[in-house]
Amino acid sequence: MSTALRETRSTCPYCGVGCGVIIESQGTQITGVRGDPDHPANFGRLCSKGSTLHLTAAPAVTQHARLLFPMRRATRGAEPRPVSWNEAMSEATERFAQVIAEHGPDAVGFYLSGQLLTEDYYVFNKLAKGLIGTNNVDTNSRLCMSSAVAGYKATLGADAPPACYDDLAHARTLFITGSNTAYAHPILFRRIEDAKRANPALRMIVVDPRRTDTAAAADLHLQLLPGSDVALYHGLLHLMLWDGLVDTAYIAAHTTGFDALKARVREYTPRETSRLTGVPEDRIVQAAAWFAGLDEPGAGAPVAARTPTLSLYCQGLNQSASGTAKNAALINLHLATGQIGKPGAGPFSLTGQPNAMGGREVGGLSNLLSAHRDLANPGHRAEVARLWGVDDVPAAPGKSAVDMFRAAADGQIKALWIACTNPAQSMPDQALVREAMARCEFVVVQEAFATTATTPYADLLLPATTWGEKEGTVTNSERRISRVRPAVPAPGQARNDWHIATEFAQRLETRLRCGRPSLFDYPTPESVWIEHRESTRGRDLDITGLSYARLEAEGPQQWPLPEGAATGRARLYEDGVFPTADGRARFFDTPFEPVAEPRDVRYPFSLNTGRLRDQWHGMSRTGTLGRLFGQVPEPTVDLHPQELQRLGLQPGDLVHVTSRRGSIVLPAAADDGIAPAQAFIAMHWGEEFLSGRSARGVPLAGVNALTTPRYCPRSMQPELKHCAVKLLKA
Ligand code: SF4
Repeated sequence: MSTALRETRSTCPYCGVGCGVIIESQGTQITGVRGDPDHPANFGRLCSKGSTLHLTAAPAVTQHARLLFPMRRATRGAEPRPVSWNEAMSEATERFAQVIAEHGPDAVGFYLSGQLLTEDYYVFNKLAKGLIGTNNVDTNSRLCMSSAVAGYKATLGADAPPACYDDLAHARTLFITGSNTAYAHPILFRRIEDAKRANPALRMIVVDPRRTDTAAAADLHLQLLPGSDVALYHGLLHLMLWDGLVDTAYIAAHTTGFDALKARVREYTPRETSRLTGVPEDRIVQAAAWFAGLDEPGAGAPVAARTPTLSLYCQGLNQSASGTAKNAALINLHLATGQIGKPGAGPFSLTGQPNAMGGREVGGLSNLLSAHRDLANPGHRAEVARLWGVDDVPAAPGKSAVDMFRAAADGQIKALWIACTNPAQSMPDQALVREAMARCEFVVVQEAFATTATTPYADLLLPATTWGEKEGTVTNSERRISRVRPAVPAPGQARNDWHIATEFAQRLETRLRCGRPSLFDYPTPESVWIEHRESTRGRDLDITGLSYARLEAEGPQQWPLPEGAATGRARLYEDGVFPTADGRARFFDTPFEPVAEPRDVRYPFSLNTGRLRDQWHGMSRTGTLGRLFGQVPEPTVDLHPQELQRLGLQPGDLVHVTSRRGSIVLPAAADDGIAPAQAFIAMHWGEEFLSGRSARGVPLAGVNALTTPRYCPRSMQPELKHCAVKLLKA
């Protein structure tokens, strides 16, 4: 490779804002990174994580943290030894083929990641559902966005965020709920600050049990009790009905199901809503008026004169045992007030991971199929089978994340393939997940980093490329597809994820489909993407007008962008027509359900989890860089000062934090933004920083030693945002 200085346009691999980056490189080394001034997600800005990406690709990091060669363990617990790619792939093929032959296709499972590129995701999904014949494909997007998916589909008819970043500049009210945007989506928060500077009348309501940095910047903070979101939204709708703030013409013309919801919210009076949520009545009244587009309660204004409201929401709604209900109850408010399909208005889920959207587009969850098709729909299954050139796609839903590891723990799943994710740290009820991997007969871990908590459970470790080395596409929160490009060659023998999946699929199909033409004739990631593009023809996310060449020439584009379209669509449902059978959006009538594991006498604290500003996920990348520990150098359990006093603790004292599933020890810290009887621990810390044990003695790491696997019955997303704990001075 030339040693001349080179610049390569790509995308930040961290959060769903999807910022464009320009990677500076020389020879095999990434030497710098800066924001891409032409990328419409960030216009040149980067946050603390994005702007230090090049330092996490330094040689010292690569040498010590990266997985560089295929490795095999002769026995569990043994040191892994390097093997050739040929040996590794032969063994993987042999073991998977054997399990499938002896126990059937549902005895294997694939657990993937919202960090994978769309092309990687596509191959894995087709490999499992098309070739092997199992729907046991799920991803860490199940822990991230599956409630948003279910909420959109239940109300608007398709998993399509209707708004865009530009709507920030048109909104009069921002309703930020279940999102610490300032930390989780920092560059989007910069755009909110810009919008506020340009339009001082812009007002911000933040709904959060904690007074986060986002809440501290709000005009109105609704500090609700954990998990009481649905009660709050129903209470807002009750007030909107009482005060005549709903848009009756919009409801009549574009929706169904309002009468049932109207009856449902009758009991959510301001007093009752305040009792259920802990939010003072006057704040609920103020929020209802602002959301509906009025300046003050009772001010009155014709619908046409009301100002636009944009909701931004994330894991506070999604990571919940009633996640679908929370998402849908919020969307109910937009439909009832006509706050959708116009500039500055609409429900807008903020994607946690960089490509959870792309994964959803290819159907990379156990209940989905390509291009937003549903596994439960026989017509959709037939369409996908035809596209893939297979006889059929199995009808039975696969195991979602929690159930996949339960099935491995029960011995039903005997071979697991884990790619680009770290379930030994990131899944709830970590003890069960670790026991499941230990019991599984054969575990493949396809990873860029050798040091994750999951790698010790692997029989076979396959080295994958990562940011700066990979090629493909990702889709951000506003449906914008961006290119990801390699700036340097892969280190050691690392290979691209799509390539590893393709080679495995090709080897496996010689066993399962011998003599028939290959389903996986993919010489390049572009060839994978072209097949994915064809699968979207005529669907809500149609991108048949897009190509790698067009992305190269015109930059990132939003879907839908069908053949012949001049541009993608910035905003959806401007015509009031929804992708449902009758073209109408559906109100979602749901009761308020409290958290799955309420606090009680034995476990008297509500534990909340969330992000830090400068760390990402399990820290496999950001944890390699000292400067990213500047804001928060060590894990803490944050408590209201009154609670510290009541427990006889000083800041810095060590505390046992124990739930029904495990226990960890960490220092206490005072934070008066946390309500009494609540506690907060950041999600990132792994075993290097925060180790513990389960009740059965399994070694654990981080906050997911404590969290509950109880999940939403519709989205199957677990309630990572709440469990009951007790605290004892260590
Ligand atoms: Fe990367 Fe998100 Fe920061 Fe943008 S906001 S630079 S995508 S981490």
